[in-house]
Parts: sequence; C-alpha cells; structure tokens
Amino acid sequence: MNERDSAAVATMLRGKGYSIVENELDADVVLLNTCSIRDQAEQKAIGKAGHLTKRKRKNPNLILGIMGCMAQNRGGALIDSLPDLDLIVGTQKFHRIPDHLDHIIATLNGLGPKPDSVVDLEEESGSQNTIKSHDEETVQVAAFVSIMQGCNMKCSYCIVPKTRGVERARPMEDIIDEIKKLVYNGTREVTLLGQIVNQYAVREFPFVNKKSPFVQLLERIHEIDGIERIRFTSPHPIGFRDDLINCYARLPKLCEYLHFPMQSGSNRILKAMRRPYTIEKFGEIISKIRAVRPDIYISTDVIVGFPGETDEDFGLTCQAFEAFGFDMAYLFKYSMRPGTTAERLGDPIPQYIKEKRNQILLNILREQSLVRNKALIGKVEEVLFEGPAKKGVNMFMGRTRGHRKVFVQATPRLIGQLARVKITNVTSSTLMGELLLEGVESVENFVYA
Ligand code: SAH
Ligand code: SF4
Repeated sequence: MNERDSAAVATMLRGKGYSIVENELDADVVLLNTCSIRDQAEQKAIGKAGHLTKRKRKNPNLILGIMGCMAQNRGGALIDSLPDLDLIVGTQKFHRIPDHLDHIIATLNGLGPKPDSVVDLEEESGSQNTIKSHDEETVQVAAFVSIMQGCNMKCSYCIVPKTRGVERARPMEDIIDEIKKLVYNGTREVTLLGQIVNQYAVREFPFVNKKSPFVQLLERIHEIDGIERIRFTSPHPIGFRDDLINCYARLPKLCEYLHFPMQSGSNRILKAMRRPYTIEKFGEIISKIRAVRPDIYISTDVIVGFPGETDEDFGLTCQAFEAFGFDMAYLFKYSMRPGTTAERLGDPIPQYIKEKRNQILLNILREQSLVRNKALIGKVEEVLFEGPAKKGVNMFMGRTRGHRKVFVQATPRLIGQLARVKITNVTSSTLMGELLLEGVESVENFVYA
C-alpha cells in the first residue's frame, strides 16, 4: 500500500514539473513514506530522517518531509525531535504534497517569510479518491490499484485504524476508469489493495443478487479487455462468503493465488487479538476455495509472540501451517503499539522466543514450498514477464499465476507478454525455466528481437 501511495505522489509531483532522481544524493526534496505497523519500522524511518537532517544542516535548501503512517501516528511531535523537517503529511493528505512543496520552495526563494514546518494531518473526506494516478511514461506490467482506505476493525494489536482512519471506498466507476487507463498503457495484471478488500463499499453500494460490491467489482474488472490477471490483498475471513468463493470457479482471470491473513492458529489467541473468527471457520473457507480451485497457492500473515501466546498456542499455529499448506507467509514478531487495546497487556514474550517461533515457521514454509515447487519441474506454466532480472545476462523475471517468481533467459521484447515456460529447476522461493516459443504471444517479436 505504501509503495502505491509513494508512486501516486511521485506521479502528482511529475505532473507539476518535478522529476524523480535515481540517487537520493541528487535530490532537492526528499520525502520519506513511513510505516507504523511495528516499532522497528518507525525506528528505521526516524534513523533515516536523522541522517537526512545532518545533510540538511550542510545544505539548508534541501527540503525534507515525512509522510504516511508514522507522520499520522507521531504528528507534530516529530518536529520536536527533528526540528529541521519541513513537511509532515498524514495519510489523508498525500494529494496536498505538491502545493505544500510549492509553498516551501517559494519561501526558500525569498518570496515569503521563512515558514514554520508544515504539518498537515487532518482527516479529509474523499481523500481515498486521490490515490489514482500512475506514471504514464513507464509501462507497469503488473500494477497496484488502491480501491479503498482505512479500516473499521479493532484488532487489538493493530495501529492501522489509528493511522489510516475509517473505511472509505472509492467509486466503482473511478476504479474501472483507472484500470482501463492502465491497460491502455500496457498493464496486464492488477492487484486490488485495501485493508479488508472484501469489505469494499459494503456501506456505499448495494448487494445485487446476493453479490457483494467487491464481487461486483471483480466481475467488472474481469470484463476489461487486456486485463489478463486479477489479484487482491488483503481479504478477511469476515465477509469471505460463497459469492466470493464462487469467483474462483467463475472468473478465470482471478489468479489461483490468495493472500489470506490468519494471524494465529489458536482460537484463544485469535480471541485476544479480537479477530472475529475461529481457526475452524478460517479452514472452512480454504477448503471451499480448494474445492473449486484445487491448484490455488495460499499465503498468509502471522504474528508470533502475541502476549500470552504459549508453546501450545504456537503449536496450533504450526499445525495450521501444515493443515492449510501455506506456500508463503509474512511472519511478524509481535510489536506493542501505543494506543492499541493490546497495549495494556505489555510485551511479555521475550525476543528470543519470538525469534525461535519465527524460525520454526520459516522452516515449515521452506519445506512446503520446496515440495510444491519441485512438483513443477518438467511442467509448463503461464508466465507474465515483468522485467529484467537483477542478476544474470539476458535473464528476465516473470510470475506464474500462483505468484511464483520465474527466471528465464529471454529478450526485452518479452516484457509485458504472457508466455509458456517449462520449469527446469527450482529453489524454495523461485523457479527457473525455458521459454517454449510456441507459447509466446508474439513469436515474431521474440525471434527478431
Ligand atoms: N488488514 C490486514 C493486515 C494489514 S497489517 C488484515 O487484517 O489482514 C499487515 C500485517 O501486519 C498484519 O496482518 C499483521 O500480521 C501484522 N501486524 C499488524 N500489527 C502488528 C503488530 N503490532 N506487531 C506485529 N505484527 C503486526
Ligand atoms: Fe489492522 Fe485488523 Fe484492520 Fe487488518 S483488519 S488493518 S489487522 S485492524
């Protein structure tokens, strides 16, 4: 989500005549987009901002801003610790950044009094509709599309409702327009973003034939010519009903990949986390999806070391990892966040136990993922090529429908194309393959490239 917000702000700035430089040392303006989900993320941003303020002391014309969740969470107090900051912009004010910069630059150029730091953290109705523009100069084969902002849940550990505000959906027509523009510019895959995507617009739009607004949105996107793949993140077990499950049977462009955050395998911990489902209910949804898409890949989010998590609770999480056959997971060590309801529980689980539990889950994942990847050797997968690989001569990176990274020797003409690739070698996290020429959409391009 932060990546998408940063890209949208960069596009707004380009529209005003700014250019984005490759190296931060060349920049006249540096904006840090920040995360508050764990204390570590905030400390990292504060450390980085500290370094930048040292540079600013040598070059007072350097403009420094902090945007996003930490700006929202810590607010004006950031100025007390980092008085050199020029700009603090909250999560509902990203679209105001170009104007704020214009103002700051005008005052630096002597066109006004030396300003105080600009702090803009208010809520703004309609701000969810401002994260919509994409850089038209570059082709994004796979693009993120933000469909909503905020969250109305009250998970006891989570700071997001405080930093991102209440749930606000974008109008369906705006989202469809945005995706059509992306397609025009070369996009073939979209990932819809929201804190609980399947709750999209439940208050704003009616259910039609028992289909939720999110399912209606998926159907509309599915009809767009040029879009070949649809993904979304993150859904929540709440509201993951049959209408959405059936999409996996009905909508072939909906990829056989689901990111489905579980958080814990223990009902006792789920309750303490205020996650309003049981592990049985969570498993039931997975079983129903596998019944209609047996080859689906599933990833999850898990927190280890939530206050009160015993070895037995953690054992249930390990069991769930095996029972549900997760292919990938984001593993988080619990971090106590000020202002959340879990704050009063403190952070009693020692770091070394969190580390140990994290490692155990990583090992389970690696094994499961390797078994699944090995089964692909010799098989042919549909791959969408996104760009050059970071390493290797003539190596390009694409993804399978199951979201696995594949590395293939190819030519740049392949970028943005779907191709059939024979898998030749695997690790637990990546696949290597050979291009099957008859599967390339435009063979001519490939042969003569
Ligand atoms: N809305 C999504 C999650 C968004 S936050 C959902 O409910 O599924 C991304 C992930 O960060 C969460 O799924 C959770 O696993 C992790 N997380 C959130 N707060 C955390 C905390 N205080 N400590 C550690 N991990 C946390
Ligand atoms: Fe946080 Fe829970 Fe909302 Fe996800 S659903 S953003 S974990 S409060």
